Amino acid sequence: MTTIAKVEAREILDSRGLPTVEVALETGKGAKVIASVPSGASTGKNEAHELRDGEKRFGGKGVRRAVENINGEIARALTGASAKDAGEVGSGDAEGKEFDQRSLDVALIALDGTPDKSRLGANAILAVSLAFARAAATETDAGTGKLGVPLYSYSNTLANQSIAADARFASLGQIAPSLPTPSFNVLNGGKHADSGLSIQEFMLVPQRGTTTERIEVAAACIAKLRDNLHARGLSIGVGDEGGFAPKIGSNEDALDALVAAIIGAGYTTDEVKIAIDAAASSFFQEGKYVLSAQQALSSAELARWYEGLLTKYPIFSLEDPFAEDDWDAFAEFAKKVDGRALVVGDDLLTTNVARMQIAAEKHAVTSALIKPNQIGTVSETIDAVLFARAQGWVPFASHRSGETGDTAIVDIAVGLGCTYLKAGSLARGERVVKYNRLLEIADELVA
Ligand code: PEP
Ligand code: MG
Repeated sequence: MTTIAKVEAREILDSRGLPTVEVALETGKGAKVIASVPSGASTGKNEAHELRDGEKRFGGKGVRRAVENINGEIARALTGASAKDAGEVGSGDAEGKEFDQRSLDVALIALDGTPDKSRLGANAILAVSLAFARAAATETDAGTGKLGVPLYSYSNTLANQSIAADARFASLGQIAPSLPTPSFNVLNGGKHADSGLSIQEFMLVPQRGTTTERIEVAAACIAKLRDNLHARGLSIGVGDEGGFAPKIGSNEDALDALVAAIIGAGYTTDEVKIAIDAAASSFFQEGKYVLSAQQALSSAELARWYEGLLTKYPIFSLEDPFAEDDWDAFAEFAKKVDGRALVVGDDLLTTNVARMQIAAEKHAVTSALIKPNQIGTVSETIDAVLFARAQGWVPFASHRSGETGDTAIVDIAVGLGCTYLKAGSLARGERVVKYNRLLEIADELVA
């Protein structure tokens, strides 16, 4: 159990130069940590609410209200001295109320009081939840009482506690920390770049080797892709997630460029496969999927187009192939694909067990994207991963397109045993820092 001596938020900038929330948290035993939250561009409409000021500064995207909510109401409710002063929580103990991760998250959810965390802001709530996780990990392992464990170990302990406590997850047994396979977003489209590509993410996924070896393989393919684009007179500037953003023509051209880079770097398409995030909500207009000026397709036509891609290209994973409410299209497609590729729900599921429950009933997906800020607390993120795993779905952890230097997503992916992790390309500090954290954890887990 952990007491919170101090929690203080600031407005900082994310990788797009837009405001986000950073929290400094100090525990009763003196552990001091910092955590910050990311922000999406192609956000699902069912995501927890990111509180923005809506004022002139930063085009309405300031987060001073979220910061004030932490420094005022949340700090009063969680910290010892001020809670006592305000008469809100605490037993009168000078150190204030004790929390574990679950009780902290439950308290934050109750304090907010809305279904989508819109009163205090999911950005405010997640920043506190993450900072608490990091502090509690630093202080003591929730299960064993052992001092100072890495965040991935702490997340793993929490997951196993949830499995033991929640009948929905009983089938899972114990989970061990494991290294996710990294998925590198090397061509950026959709809302992440002005490349003109309707598909948002084209990812390379080395299929074999250690984490270090997979990163080396990705680096070689990325270098080849850069050379090939440059030789064609195309831009090698990068988009929001560090992948190239050339005006390459069509989605098929992008896939051809990936295959050429894999082969050109000396690998086979068995050794390096492709994952796509269509983020199809972003090109769904008036009932049609507008792939390009010439291609406005129905759900059934789009499904056939994807099937053609699966036949022609080494694609093993398709995220958000349809818009976030096109449940039937997902379900029909998942049935047709029949395990030949993962059908991943991102905007469809929004890391939300209630939406995952619908997906389970409809057999709409075979994999769940996991983004903590879509739901807003660490505990609910754990529930989402465990729920996905209990359905036999592949958990796929993800950064956001607007990121900070915080690497919690990597520890969470490892601790919860997520099969894949996407954290952008091997470019832009806020992406590279995630892969460096993965390398660090890989060394620790092997040692
Ligand atoms: C995604 O759609 O998977 C993604 C990472 O993008 P964003 O953060 O913009 O939602
Ligand atoms: Mg997505």
